[in-house]
Amino acid sequence: MEDIRMANISMENICKTYPNGVSAVENFSLEIKDKEFLIFVGPSGCGKSTTLRMIAGLEDITSGVLKLDGEVVNEVPARNRDIAMVFQSYALYPHMSVYDNIAFGLRRRKLSRDEVDQKVREAARILDLESQLKKKPRELSGGQKQRVAMGAAIVRNPKVFLMDEPLSNLDAKLRVQMRLEIEELYERLGATIVYVTHDQTEAMTLGTRIVVMKDGIIQQVDTPENLYTRPANLFVAGFIGSPQMNFLKAAVLDKNGVLTLEAGGSTLALPESRQKPLKEKGYVGKEIILGIRPEDIKDAEIFVNVLEASCITARIQVYELLGAEALLYFEHAGSKVTASVHSRTKAREGDTVRLAFDMEKSYLFDMETERSIL
Ligand code: ADP
Ligand code: MG
Repeated sequence: MEDIRMANISMENICKTYPNGVSAVENFSLEIKDKEFLIFVGPSGCGKSTTLRMIAGLEDITSGVLKLDGEVVNEVPARNRDIAMVFQSYALYPHMSVYDNIAFGLRRRKLSRDEVDQKVREAARILDLESQLKKKPRELSGGQKQRVAMGAAIVRNPKVFLMDEPLSNLDAKLRVQMRLEIEELYERLGATIVYVTHDQTEAMTLGTRIVVMKDGIIQQVDTPENLYTRPANLFVAGFIGSPQMNFLKAAVLDKNGVLTLEAGGSTLALPESRQKPLKEKGYVGKEIILGIRPEDIKDAEIFVNVLEASCITARIQVYELLGAEALLYFEHAGSKVTASVHSRTKAREGDTVRLAFDMEKSYLFDMETERSIL
């Protein structure tokens, strides 16, 4: 019968507590669609690898249900799950050639020599390793080693690829190149890929859907665009985007039915899109957290479309020219703030300047729950 090669992964309330009592993953529920390229992202220790290893069958599931194509696989051993895993460390056999490293997993199966050879050469072609097959791992660059590790996974032709920070041992330039290669690979393979990284830039550029994790708990599952424009809470807002979003304590004031924010002695006008949720959810007279991205703070002197009503005055502590933009660091309302403004700004260290907040792009968060009010 023809192999249909579906690969849905369904996770229902999965928890992992290690024998030493560490709770690494809590109530993880997620549907990963067939042929999806899904990313797990979050700071070190948030449970990404643990989750991946549970999918692979390399780690016991404490509670909850894991299904592959509708079938419960909690107790199915790793070798019977048709899943390949690629790790951060390349896990190559140093004494074996590139060819043998790629062929290794295949030789344990009952395949003819010709079949093995054909699969290895096909993988080498896809990964541009054809001229490297006779070499030993020590003769290869970091990027080539990582490609060999990918090759060993590809020849097994699994339904699902799990990749745990596969690029984090590579230098920045190579990482960008390999990122493009992985994207191409994904398109050629037509497999489901779950990819783990702690790097939000990598997550944003690679994924079609991203799972943001913190302390073993899913914070938000969304497209890169939505994570950036509609973060569910303070953590996601601060984690996605570079430089980080700024957060300021602000009071919600009502002047004859028009809401404004008061932050550090400055009054900021609010567009209708921001006033409405504050009114409807009962925040008038309360304190909230205002989020504003560095790129949404403008130097009022050089920016044409400045609304006077959303300006603050601040003394610049540090000026950093990056090229097209300059970063201005200052304090306001008791918080450290970064503005990323056009490089033609005249503002320098020690200057007192007017800065305009683009309040159409502001974010509002509840002080207690840290959830987005928008
Ligand atoms: P990440 O991959 O996101 O960095 P991990 O899944 O490796 O996170 O770890 C999640 C949490 O579980 C961390 O607190 C880590 O210290 C703990 N942990 C990981 N592996 C083990 C283990 N084998 N035994 C006990 N605790 C572990
Ligand atoms: Mg990890």
